[in-house]
Amino acid sequence: MESHNLRTSPVLILGAGPAGLTAAYELAKHGCSSVLLEQLPQVGGLSRTEQYRGFRFDIGGHRFFTRVGVVEKMWHDVLGDQFLVRPRLSRIFHNNHFFQYPLDPFDTLRGLGIWEAALCMASYAKAKMTKSSKDAKDLESWLVANFGNRLYRTFFKTYTEKVWGVPCHSIAAEWAAQRIRGLSMWTLIRETAKSLTVGSSKAVTSLIQEFEYPRLGPGQMWQATQAYLEERGSPVVLNSEVSRIVWGAGGVQTVESGGVEYRADNFMSTLPIRELFAMMDPAPPAEICAAAASLNYRDFITVALVIREPKLFPDNWLYIHEPAVKVGRIQNYKNWSPEMVPDPAYSCLGMEYFCFEGDGFWTTSDAELIDRAKTELDQLGLCSRDKVEDGVVLRIPKAYPVYDNGYREALLVLRKFLSTQLPNLQLIGRNGMHRYNNQDHSMLTGMLAARNVLGLGPFNLWEVNADQDYHEDGFRLTPEEIEELERSQPTVPSTPN
Ligand SMILES: Cc1cc2nc3c(=O)[nH]c(=O)nc-3n(C[C@H](O)[C@H](O)[C@H](O)COP(=O)(O)OP(=O)(O)OC[C@H]3O[C@@H](n4cnc5c(N)ncnc54)[C@H](O)[C@@H]3O)c2cc1C
Repeated sequence: MESHNLRTSPVLILGAGPAGLTAAYELAKHGCSSVLLEQLPQVGGLSRTEQYRGFRFDIGGHRFFTRVGVVEKMWHDVLGDQFLVRPRLSRIFHNNHFFQYPLDPFDTLRGLGIWEAALCMASYAKAKMTKSSKDAKDLESWLVANFGNRLYRTFFKTYTEKVWGVPCHSIAAEWAAQRIRGLSMWTLIRETAKSLTVGSSKAVTSLIQEFEYPRLGPGQMWQATQAYLEERGSPVVLNSEVSRIVWGAGGVQTVESGGVEYRADNFMSTLPIRELFAMMDPAPPAEICAAAASLNYRDFITVALVIREPKLFPDNWLYIHEPAVKVGRIQNYKNWSPEMVPDPAYSCLGMEYFCFEGDGFWTTSDAELIDRAKTELDQLGLCSRDKVEDGVVLRIPKAYPVYDNGYREALLVLRKFLSTQLPNLQLIGRNGMHRYNNQDHSMLTGMLAARNVLGLGPFNLWEVNADQDYHEDGFRLTPEEIEELERSQPTVPSTPN
């Protein structure tokens, strides 16, 4: 590599999604510059906003919700008054009936009819007497223990298997513990009863009824962060795919991207772990490569349909449990923010499909996918296909890191290698740490990684959310750590976009 293609920076960050951008932001606030390398033509990663003919859409709708004060502060410092507070309405469509989601026990039982409702309650009572979710090793046992077999089959099995593409009994119970912790039939009854009386002040995450959302979609937040960084001398290099990581004694030495070799003292990566290890030069020992290669992902396709109809349904999104169609979820972006559509006479729906990269669905042509999405929308009775004027397909590889049997052991092997051989490389974020998370977790790992570089640590990033408690009780930082983080936040003028 020629020397004019060598660039140096104190910190090099791979990937400009929420984790990478937040790390760079935290460094910039403390006067430390960084360089971000991003393969796409825009920032935001899975939290970006795409545009087609002026219609804006997310990779799945992105609620901004957190219990972590420093994350919320950054959102508001960067985006000022650009957030809307949106009411949440998301229902399950099953058997031609809309059920409230999160499940409202009274609505659910009413929707099921008296006979089916009685059978569900009997099955729930049986589960309560014979099973405990604490002993559950897999998702099926966890859900059956919390809801009973009959409700599990009606409301969880089809949808979950659409999302993950594998039977519920092969998914680790940890998934449920992290994502829908605290949710059970009993919690639902209690929360519903409370909301009917005084309102609940400490709702379980899946029950949250309001959320913030940037006026122009989540990408607005990340574009504003990019502008903040570039104004302060931390460039974000777009269209720059990282292809090689050279390491040796002492850790990572250089990173290659787009014909340029980058040298730095500290590196952070948000790249999927499997890809990161595959690009290491020299290749790590065989057992390390095997551990990285064993990590799996679920991929995702959004078919955004442009529809000549101002109002379709009031929900932000619908869960489609109907086994007769492949679509798993439908987003109605206009109900996230009215500014997601350029003309109020139109709506834009995101028909969301879960699949594996390279499978028959993934490789179906765009025209066929659009046609299928139109047909399924019509079949569900939500909108006649004649009203669909246009559509666009977006394929998202590695949207979900999979928690299968073995992923945890693989991560332990990799962590040991990283800490002993590559001490100047920190893994952060969702695929960066193989963590099925929300933006706030990614951001917090980025923030803490920056603080480690700045000598304000040490923070063990793998411990953030380690006991799966974050949705309900906040990340498991010690109270002293939280206090220190909040106290030492420099004031940042807001930069509305
Ligand atoms: C369908 C869906 C719905 C979601 N809904 C919500 C929600 O409602 N609320 C919420 O808070 N979170 C939500 N999330 C999660 C949120 O999207 C993630 O937590 C967040 O985007 C992760 O940020 P990250 O920076 O860790 O990773 P990413 O967003 O994945 O960013 C990683 C970046 O690295 C880049 N990259 C990868 N490989 C290379 C390479 N070789 N070279 C250069 N760059 C590379 C990618 O292009 C990407 O920009 C959702 C996610 C999905 C998939």
